[in-house]
Formats: sequence, structure tokens, C-alpha cells
Amino acid sequence: MIAAAVLVIFLFSCNNNTEKDNSNNNETMEQRVNELATFKLTTDISKLTEEEKQMIPLLIDAAKIMDPLFAYQTYGDLDSLFNAINDPATKRFAEINYGPWDRLKDDAPFIEGVGPKPAGANFYPHDMSKVEFEEANLEGKTGLYNFIRRDTGGKLYTLPYHEKFKEQLEVAAGKLREAAALAKDPGLKNYLNLRADAILNDDYQKSDFAWLDMKNNGLDIVIGPIETYEDQLFGYKASYEAYVLVKDKEWSQRLAKYASFLPELQDSLPVDKTYKTERPGSDGDLNAYDVVYYAGSANAGGKTIAINLPNDEEVQLKKGTRRLQLKNAMQAKFDKIMVPIAEVLITPEQRDHVKFDAFFANTMFHEVAHGLGIKNTINNKGTVRKALKEHASALEEGKADILGLYMVEQLLDKGEMEGDIKDYYTTFIAGIFRSVRFGAGDAHGIANMIRFNFFEDHKAFERLADGTYKVNYENMKAAIDSLSNLILTLQGDGDYDAVAKLVKEKGKIGAQLQKDLDRLKEAKIPVDVIFEQGSEVLGLK
Ligand SMILES: [Zn+2]
Repeated sequence: MIAAAVLVIFLFSCNNNTEKDNSNNNETMEQRVNELATFKLTTDISKLTEEEKQMIPLLIDAAKIMDPLFAYQTYGDLDSLFNAINDPATKRFAEINYGPWDRLKDDAPFIEGVGPKPAGANFYPHDMSKVEFEEANLEGKTGLYNFIRRDTGGKLYTLPYHEKFKEQLEVAAGKLREAAALAKDPGLKNYLNLRADAILNDDYQKSDFAWLDMKNNGLDIVIGPIETYEDQLFGYKASYEAYVLVKDKEWSQRLAKYASFLPELQDSLPVDKTYKTERPGSDGDLNAYDVVYYAGSANAGGKTIAINLPNDEEVQLKKGTRRLQLKNAMQAKFDKIMVPIAEVLITPEQRDHVKFDAFFANTMFHEVAHGLGIKNTINNKGTVRKALKEHASALEEGKADILGLYMVEQLLDKGEMEGDIKDYYTTFIAGIFRSVRFGAGDAHGIANMIRFNFFEDHKAFERLADGTYKVNYENMKAAIDSLSNLILTLQGDGDYDAVAKLVKEKGKIGAQLQKDLDRLKEAKIPVDVIFEQGSEVLGLK
């Protein structure tokens, strides 16, 4: 309350500033809002059954309840913050960010007078130190599903989510049960009922098992307190979020078919046979979905285009995980970000080869290709992961990228897939620019840069005098083969020193490329997407 009151006073005083100052502020906020491209979340509703059409609005209603719960977790009384903001662009930006901190700029405050974001968000008392927490004799204090609060005597106590939000969660559970009553698939019916129970008592394991057991559902919902990123103090507390999902049955069938080629593709990998003795795992549960609603944590900050759950390690050990690729969310990033990037950096006569179908296929084959190659070194150094230590992830991601493209080549050759290999190659190169646009610090970024520099050395593409890039299709295949060979060999040998050298020399953005990436900033290409979403957007109300 006190924080909100201080803010209100400040905002009023802000209005007394000179007009010039205000317009500058507005411009900046408007620019920040405009850097986020709006995309409508839809799906082909003609493919839905009558029951599914009735279920989706119920699932969306349940999902929507995660918004105010997350708002409380991350900030507190968000409504009073919104009410205190007069400038429409600032208000909109605060709504997008679920608070006064810019999520895509390291949580920098964008309302004057607002201090830095508390590391523990609103999960802990703001005046609590780490030491006080660690010394507190408090049962369940590291649990995922409670707030830490201070009583009138100043003593810390835990407040379970399901008690704090009892009323709202009962409404959400009711919506899930209504949807369950309509569900034809027994697996989905069971999951929705168990998930309704779970959000009311914060015991999620049964519903996680039921979620993995469900295989023939057309709809899906991920809902509840799930990820712990928002708790930057300890990483203990889970944030409410939801995704309402429609399974893409066509793509899911195709994926199952492609996965069945893994053994034969493994045998044909361009590497000595000693590096491909393991039987490739198709590691099952990978499917494509359209997401029709993002809520809570999922809707705050950068939008995810893939989900891998559950997080419960006991469930993972017994049943594995499920990977969900969000096709229409990828389409959003493709249309609003990738195509404009290609218009700056790909030579004009090849731009038509940058296609969504190729982008989506490359992404899906990346996932499947993690199953190729080997997990254990061939020289008694143990697992590849252990032998390559901190570089293991970058090399594994690099493997999946390049072998994904290799799979596309092979399946096209076999006539199992349709399309023009030029689309896949060009889209693949444009995808590198998208991935390293904001730096190449993480495993994916390093993998992308190793590949970019390797391809450049092997003349798989060239930079033209006009500052665009041209793919040399005739050189691509050889470059893909030799990079595949290099990565598979390094993994099999568990050659830590050679990998460290590769990462050091090739895993970074060169001066020329950096200049070219800077041109993307000048071209004002959106940094991310925000969604227009809901039952009306889908045409279901
Ligand atoms: Zn990967």
C-alpha cells in the first residue's frame, strides 16, 4: 500500500513537468511499445469438434485467472499502479510487462521514481535479507508453492498459494471441471479433473503423470505455478501461468514418421562408423501445437515458442518429459521478425526462399536430431556431456542444428518430404541472423556462431558488396557434411581441448557481422511479439 501511495504522488508531480519533458517521455514509451509487434493467435477452428469449440472458451477462462495471480506474485497491487498512470503508452507498456520494469531490458524501471525490481519479486517481504531467510526456522520455506510473509510481530511465516488465492483458484478449477465434463478423450478428461484438484491443494504430481499419460487429446492446457525464473532471490517460488493449446495432428503424425527414419539416418551420417554405433532414440513425446492463449508468466517478457515439461524430477525419471512446439507462435516470430531481417540481410533474389514451412521444419528437425549421434565417448571418457563439460551444451545444440538440416536433405532425397532444398538452406542462414541478433552468449548463440563462421570459411555463403548475404547452394551440402563430421568426431572423442579452442576461435560474432546486425536495429525490426488473443479472436464467441 505504501509503495503504491508513493508512486501515485510521484506520478501526479510528474504531470507538472514541462510539456517538452512529457512528450519526450511519451515518445520513448511509444517506441518501446512499437518495438513489440502484435500478432493474432488463431488456429483452424474448422478442424475442431463441437465439444472442443465449447471447451476452448472454458480453458481460456481458467487461463485468464492466472493473470492477476501472477501480477500479485511479481508486483503486488498492479491495478493501483495502472490506475496511477496517465500516459496511455506507459500504461500499455506496464500492462505488457506486468509491472513498471522492462522485462526485455534487464528489468530496468521505466517509470520515474520506481526503484530497481526486488530480486524476490513479491514472493518475499521486501525488507527480508537472504540471511534472515536462511536463518529462519520455518517449515517449507524453500517450497515452490508459498509466499513468505511477515506477521505483525515481525516474524516470518509461509502463506500457501492455494490459501492466498482460494477464491480465484476455485473459479479456475470449476472451469477446468466444466471443460473436463465435455472432453471426449478419457486421458484429457482425467488430466483436467486432476489438474483442477491440484491447483486447489498445490499437489501437482498426480496431474503431471496424467498429463504425460494423455496421448490422444486434441486440446491441452498447461496451467498452474510452474517456472521459478521470476524468483531471482532464491529461485524457489513458482509463478502462475497458462497456455491453452490445440494439437496439430498433421504435424504430429509427420514427426512420428520422421522419427522412424532415425536408425537409417544414423547409419548414413557422414562420419566414421565408430562414431555411430549407438541406436538413436526417438525419445517419443514431441508434438506441434497452436497456442491460443498465453497467461501469467508465459505472457510476460519474451514469448516462448517451445515448452518442455513437467519440471518435477520424480515424474521425469519415471515418465520423461513432453516437448511442445508452438507453431503459430513461431509463425508470429517468423512473420514479424525473421522476414524483416531477411529483407535487410539476404540478397534480394534469394529472399523468396525464406519460408515459414522451412523455418518450422528446421526447428522441428533440430529437436528430432538430438536423438542422432552418440551420447557416450568412444574412448572411455564417459558421457560426451561429462567429457566436454561447460562446452557440452553448445556442441550438442550445434549438432542438433546441423544434423536437423542433414535430415531434411536426406528425407527430401528419399522423397519422404516435399519442398525445395534452397528454401531450407536460405531459411537456415536467415535463422542464424535472428538467433545471434542480440549476442551469442548462450549455448545456442555459440553454436550458431561456430556454424556461421564455419560456413563462411567453407564458402557456403558469401557477403556481397551491397551488405547482403548470398547462399552458395552448390557448396552447402559439402559444408554441412564436414561440419557434421567435425562435431560428431569431437563429441565421440570427448576432446575437451579441441572443443574449447573451437568455441574460443569460432564461437563469437566478428566485427563485420556485428556491423550488419547493427543495421537491424536501425531498420527498427521488432524485438519480440505480443498477442491479440481470446475466444473472440478465435471466432468462438
Ligand atoms: Zn536443442
